[in-house]
Amino acid sequence: MSCLECFESSIMDIDECQPIYRDIQKFYKGLNMEIDQKIPLHLVESGVIHSKLCNYEIYIIFFLPCRITAGSLLAHEMMHAWLRLNGYKMLDPHVEEGICCVMSYIWLELEMKSDSGSNVASSSSSSSSIPYRKNQRSMFERKLAEYCKYSLKNGKLPIYGDGFREGYAAVLKYGLKNVLNHIKLKRRFPC
Ligand SMILES: [Zn+2]
Repeated sequence: MSCLECFESSIMDIDECQPIYRDIQKFYKGLNMEIDQKIPLHLVESGVIHSKLCNYEIYIIFFLPCRITAGSLLAHEMMHAWLRLNGYKMLDPHVEEGICCVMSYIWLELEMKSDSGSNVASSSSSSSSIPYRKNQRSMFERKLAEYCKYSLKNGKLPIYGDGFREGYAAVLKYGLKNVLNHIKLKRRFPC
């Protein structure tokens, strides 16, 4: 069961993920981290959300995610794919998960800064076919985004929580590009 707000914004069809997927692709492109490879998306009934890194397949739990949770999840999972596609190998789990959580956080921040409900330039398309509510940012979504950011910042699991905190501090200090370069060379976050 779900409350009305959750129900209204929940994703119940894989096609509903496609606009979000394209937004996340544009998010990475905007950071000069283009992910060209088409990554298959699957909705699953329940269980563990994870990416099948060997096939670059991404699983999203059916019904639960709304645009905010699905977007933050996709930003995270697509960073795993980006790391693989760009030759980042044998990273310590807290470094890999940490930087993926950082990308999720950055997406949430950008998303909330945009008025339209989409952090990509919407002027390029006059199409009204995009199924999610584009021109309104509901209070529900804002609260949810704040909660997602809070969860990332206060994660208790060492790999995710500590990884995020270390990674985000490094990104604030050195910038994302420098941190990524450092990880590639040293396989750890800069101090
Ligand atoms: Zn991950």
